[in-house]
Amino acid sequence: MREFVTRFAPSPTGPLHLGHAFSALTAFTAAREAGGRFLLRLEDIDTARCKPEFTEAILADLAWLGLDWEEPVRRQSDHFGEYHAAIDALAARGLVYRCFKTRKEVLEDIARAPHLPGEGPDGVIYPGPVEPPSKVEEDARIAAGDAFAWRLSMRAVADAIGDPSRLTFTEEGAGPMGETGEVNIKPELIGDVIIGRKDVGTSYHLAVTLDDALQGVSHVIRGEDLFFATSVHRILQALLELPVPVYRHHRLLTGPDGKRFAKRDKAKTLQAIRTSGTSAQDLRMQLGFNW
Ligand code: GLU
Repeated sequence: MREFVTRFAPSPTGPLHLGHAFSALTAFTAAREAGGRFLLRLEDIDTARCKPEFTEAILADLAWLGLDWEEPVRRQSDHFGEYHAAIDALAARGLVYRCFKTRKEVLEDIARAPHLPGEGPDGVIYPGPVEPPSKVEEDARIAAGDAFAWRLSMRAVADAIGDPSRLTFTEEGAGPMGETGEVNIKPELIGDVIIGRKDVGTSYHLAVTLDDALQGVSHVIRGEDLFFATSVHRILQALLELPVPVYRHHRLLTGPDGKRFAKRDKAKTLQAIRTSGTSAQDLRMQLGFNW
């Protein structure tokens, strides 16, 4: 049987709150119960929003919570070259294309789409350019040094792997609508999603998919807000011939107002909880972890 390896993968863009503690404890406890391994990965590709002080605080909060993890911790910002190489490989196969458009121009394309696109994991679904730029235009913009994003061409994806809606993954938790077991992905929720951002040349989707494969993660345990992002990850696994982990999406913690915790809820940061005198064990019990 495959070794059980899971991870907690926060982005150091703010302090950890109760929702993160629940997620980290869910993954850590699952690894412990399975006699497996637990990894911590810092998803810090957003170089403008990630700050070293948030990284330090995350490490301190998780240690306080009673977690330990294998060293070295993988920091995605140390691996841009690997992500860019993967995008180059996808580009060489015509699976991604350059998108020079501004947000406004993207919204204009969306408004001109034959059917009104819905919302996917990254916001409004982009069905692709109404008129793709000519090779001459594209070369001129590259030569001018204009910034571009890399978008997945869903048309090229279908040509390469066939109908993506036949791709499945094993869900041992549940999606937002109770999806569980062997579930088919929803390519219609993806559109020509961004795989390489204009600013950093990669994306959460690409980095998380490559890293989970590279680190031998057998079980991806994370909040159900990322359930539909799994469709993007599953397509990337198919294109890059990566192993497919088992997924366990867990429920999201909500406050008394029914809203999920966010980084802006200062009172619910682990830092605030710690300084209020709550012990780590009390907090674990409160979140339903009996150790
Ligand atoms: N870095 C992501 C976040 O902070 C989580 C990634 C994942 O678990 O797949 O929400």
